[in-house]
Amino acid sequence: MNDEQLLRYARHILLDELGIEGQERLLAARVLIVGAGGLGSPAALYLATAGVGDITLADDDVVELSNLQRQILHTTASVGRPKAESGRDMLAAFNPQTRVHARVERLQGQALSDAVAQADLVLDCTDNFTTRHAINRACVQHRKPLVSGAAIRFDGQVSVYDLRDPEAPCYHCLFPEADDVEEANCATMGVFAPVVGIIGSMQAAEALKLLSGVGESLSGRLLWLDVRTMQWRSVNVQRDPECAVCAARGH
Ligand SMILES: [Zn+2]
Repeated sequence: MNDEQLLRYARHILLDELGIEGQERLLAARVLIVGAGGLGSPAALYLATAGVGDITLADDDVVELSNLQRQILHTTASVGRPKAESGRDMLAAFNPQTRVHARVERLQGQALSDAVAQADLVLDCTDNFTTRHAINRACVQHRKPLVSGAAIRFDGQVSVYDLRDPEAPCYHCLFPEADDVEEANCATMGVFAPVVGIIGSMQAAEALKLLSGVGESLSGRLLWLDVRTMQWRSVNVQRDPECAVCAARGH
């Protein structure tokens, strides 16, 4: 680390549990963030400002005026631009040392598999079940830790599926795919802006912990938040030995 980095990251380096070694792990880390909206905004901002070395930001959407109420990575001047590119430019302003790759596409199939394979860790900041399950399958296949967040109305949830650990549950263990699941997302429902800020920031915290080796991750637990009462609930999550996605991955 050079002098500028020692200064920029001083408040992390001062943390005994993180220190120079942890910061160097962050600088060497490669992270895939799928979704540059409400959850991806705070998550990407904290990962970039914390010095994660290489971030791929994937999103096929463009910034709309109705996004700005909660998607704090984008400004009024970004309306009409692809979110991945608007986000990349904003992250560069916060920390020019972080390499950011903008992928203006809905990652799927081989492209998703390749992007997951190249990452040390994946953040699911999307808003639909189809993509969530596709990301989970790729993370199971490549045994990558997955930090998953969701938010709608006044409710949020966050968890970690640490798929490097053969005993850890995957997203599908907890939320099996079903044809009749009604798609509820922010495109059609309301969302209280700070909910995505809280959940996206928690995703950043879990990602930074996993990458730097600090503390214990949320793996095996799911946190639910109701912002109306500001009550958190913690649910223990078990691996489903019959899970159609992860049961066959072997030990
Ligand atoms: Zn599973």
